[in-house]
Amino acid sequence: TVTDQAFVTLATDDVYCQGALVLGQSLRNHTTSRKLAVLITPGVSSGMRSVLRSVFDEVTEVDAIDSADSVRLALLQRPELGVTFTKLHCWTLTHYSKCVFMDADTLVLCNVDELFDREEFSAAPDSGWPDCFNSGVFVFRPSLKTYNLLLQFAAEHGSFDGGDQGLLNSFFSNWATADIGKHLPFIYNLSSSAIYTYVPAFNHFGRDTKVVHFLGATKPWNYKYNLQTKRVMQDGTTSGSFHQLSFLALWWNIYSASILPLLE
Ligand code: UDP
Ligand code: MN
Repeated sequence: TVTDQAFVTLATDDVYCQGALVLGQSLRNHTTSRKLAVLITPGVSSGMRSVLRSVFDEVTEVDAIDSADSVRLALLQRPELGVTFTKLHCWTLTHYSKCVFMDADTLVLCNVDELFDREEFSAAPDSGWPDCFNSGVFVFRPSLKTYNLLLQFAAEHGSFDGGDQGLLNSFFSNWATADIGKHLPFIYNLSSSAIYTYVPAFNHFGRDTKVVHFLGATKPWNYKYNLQTKRVMQDGTTSGSFHQLSFLALWWNIYSASILPLLE
C-alpha cells in the first residue's frame, strides 16, 4: 500500500456517515492501495465512530467552526459557510502528500487509484455549468499554507453558491482554462441527473462510468429498499430512469450486504 496517499471523505452527522461507509466499502471492494480517511464533526455518535473505524484507516474529528484566529472569527459571521469550512479541513491532513476527496454521496464502480497520477487541483466539470468543476471529487495536496489561504479567501469573498463548490471554483479560478490535465473525465464524477439531461451521451459513454455521484436533495439513503427483492422502491415523490435505479440498487446492495450488519 501507498501510505502517504489517501481517499478522503466527510460526514458531519450519522446520516451522511451511511454514505461515507458505502463509499469506503466500495473503495475496499475494488482493492484500493491507498489509505481511507474520513473527517467527522462532534455531531457523529460514538457508535457510528466505531463502525467508521472498521472501514476507514483514519477517522479524524474536526470542529465545524473553530475560533482560533481572526480569519476563523470572520467565518463565524458567515454561518452558511459551516459545512464548506468543514470540507476545507481536508487540506490539514498533511501526513499525506496527495489525496482524492470524494463526497459521501459518491460510489466507485471500479478501482480509481489512477486518480493519484493527477495533480492539484484536478476535478471534473459540473453538469450544471461546465466551466465550473464539481467539488464532489477532486485531487489535492494537503498543505497548511493552502488551508489558511482558503480560509482567508472564504472570509473575504464568501462563496457565490454558499457552499464549498463556489468557494473552490473562485479560489482555483484558472481550472477551466489553464491545464487540460486537471480536467478529470466526467466518468470520474457522473452526476446521476446527467443521465437524463443527455441520454445519447450516457448511452454511448456511460458504460465506462467509474464514479457515480448522487448529487441533489434526495440521497440513496432517502429511498426505501426491499431487502427480499433487492429492489429500490419508488413512491410518488421519487422518479428515476432505469440507469439511475440501477446505480441506486448498487448503492443499496453494498449498504445492505456490508454496512447494515455493522450497524446492528
Ligand atoms: N456533508 C455533510 N453533512 C451535511 C452536508 C454535506 O457531511 O449536512 C458533506 C458530505 O460529504 C457531502 C458533501 O458534504 O457529500 C457535499 O454535500 P452534498 O453531497 O449533500 O451536496 P451535493 O453534492 O448534493 O451538491
Ligand atoms: Mn455530493
